[in-house]
Amino acid sequence: MSANIIDGKEFALKVRTRVAEQVTILKADHGLTPGLAVVLAGDDPASHVYVRNKNKSTLAAGMKSEEIRLADTVSQEEVLAVVERLNADPSIHGILVQLPLPSQVDETAVIDAIDPAKDVDGFHVVNTGRQAVGLDAMVPCTPLGCIMMLKDQLGDLSGLNAVVVGRSNIVGKPMASLLLGENCTVTISHSRTKDLPAVCRSADILVAAVGRSEMIKGDWVKPGATVIDVGINRIELDTGKTRLVGDVCFSEAVEVAGAITPVPGGVGPMTIACLLANTVTAACRIAGVSEPEIG
Ligand code: NDP
Repeated sequence: MSANIIDGKEFALKVRTRVAEQVTILKADHGLTPGLAVVLAGDDPASHVYVRNKNKSTLAAGMKSEEIRLADTVSQEEVLAVVERLNADPSIHGILVQLPLPSQVDETAVIDAIDPAKDVDGFHVVNTGRQAVGLDAMVPCTPLGCIMMLKDQLGDLSGLNAVVVGRSNIVGKPMASLLLGENCTVTISHSRTKDLPAVCRSADILVAAVGRSEMIKGDWVKPGATVIDVGINRIELDTGKTRLVGDVCFSEAVEVAGAITPVPGGVGPMTIACLLANTVTAACRIAGVSEPEIG
């Protein structure tokens, strides 16, 4: 039996369309144009591509987009001054500082300086803490996209066994917290986990956020499980060309799982869509208006 392939591109398009509709209503009813600022320091080529895509998507949704490019030699004080200016700017509701930052800049200090209400990446400890105790929070975009796809696929997640492989602050931990919030029985596994294949085989929902090409094999997957592959790994082919693969061995897992996200075209497209959705949420909370319901 072959799994249902979860189409992240199509799902992300639906989310982006809904966000654009919400923006239209916010402008018309409240004179509110959500604004997202992205700060990029340094010359990392991948970061430049991400930031360009974010800028294009933000404008396409009808929002204000501001891009601040800083030199690779920028000082910590200069980055903090930019964040302070954006915190005080009433036309900006979301601030994203593209990571990694140049080595002379302390990432934690920069994230701590962002107004938690404008922290659309959901990395500020205030948002991490609020999410952990079940209060309204800005939720990191990648786990948010994963939970949206899971709910769309499975409906009620209550009582399901969920295994998250990876415990990073930006994916693994918030993912586990969101699954717990949906009443799953959650296991977080990592590099010290004993008998990882057996742990994975217990999962009705298996989320892989490891950063190791095709590490999770088909026989680690419980028949019928829903598999969400967050990993993005570039591998070199014999031809010298490169290809993106996930943390799950897709060709094997697709024969066992009930549903699975591909790489590329699964979780990736949802991340930017959720960034736009978070910016609308932030704008509404800051302005004290409720988020427009669509359809
Ligand atoms: P990190 O490197 O921060 O974390 C990786 C986690 O995997 C760690 O908790 C680590 O465990 C665990 N791990 C490493 N090796 C093993 C192993 N052999 N067995 C079990 N666990 C292991 O990565 P991120 O969370 O930032 O990212 C994970 C992947 O997701 C990457 O491929 C990244 O590119 C991708 N990604 C994709 C996004 C998207 O938009 N689709 C967004 C963000 C990330 P330990 O803590 O013990 O070291």
